[in-house]
Amino acid sequence: MTAPSLRILDGRDELLSQLRVLTAGQLAGSSLVVSLSDPIGGGLPCAIGQCPRPIQGNQLCTTHRDRWLAAGRPVLAGWAGGRPLGPATVDLGGLPETVRLELTFGILCARADPHPPTIALHRLRRLVTGLAEAGVASLLEPDEQSWPGAYRDGRTTGAL
Ligand SMILES: [Zn+2]
Repeated sequence: MTAPSLRILDGRDELLSQLRVLTAGQLAGSSLVVSLSDPIGGGLPCAIGQCPRPIQGNQLCTTHRDRWLAAGRPVLAGWAGGRPLGPATVDLGGLPETVRLELTFGILCARADPHPPTIALHRLRRLVTGLAEAGVASLLEPDEQSWPGAYRDGRTTGAL
């Protein structure tokens, strides 16, 4: 994959327009679909059959972990896990369009990078929730020193 590139632009409207073009077709509605091989949101495969979601602990994805707990914690070997799941998604619908497109563009760049930064799915979801709650209108607005504390924890800074 070739990394997408942005031209230097004069105005926010031009940037938004260009981001719309560069990220077209990358979202399913307002959700980002994550594969296991994605540096941003991917990870080791869930232990259940052909589950396409990354583990979130106990060798299971969050949905299979919840099902496993509800089933009374059966022995994993031989446990079917219920009906099959689709790939993991991250709902970006609570973000302003600008942030949604900026994040998507950053993820496309990471996917094309031979040595990409990585971020686990649960951290990506926490980042998205935090951005929505903080009311960030663009990733370009706050300087690094004024970002909300949750993003300066040394784990997510510079990841995208
Ligand atoms: Zn799973």
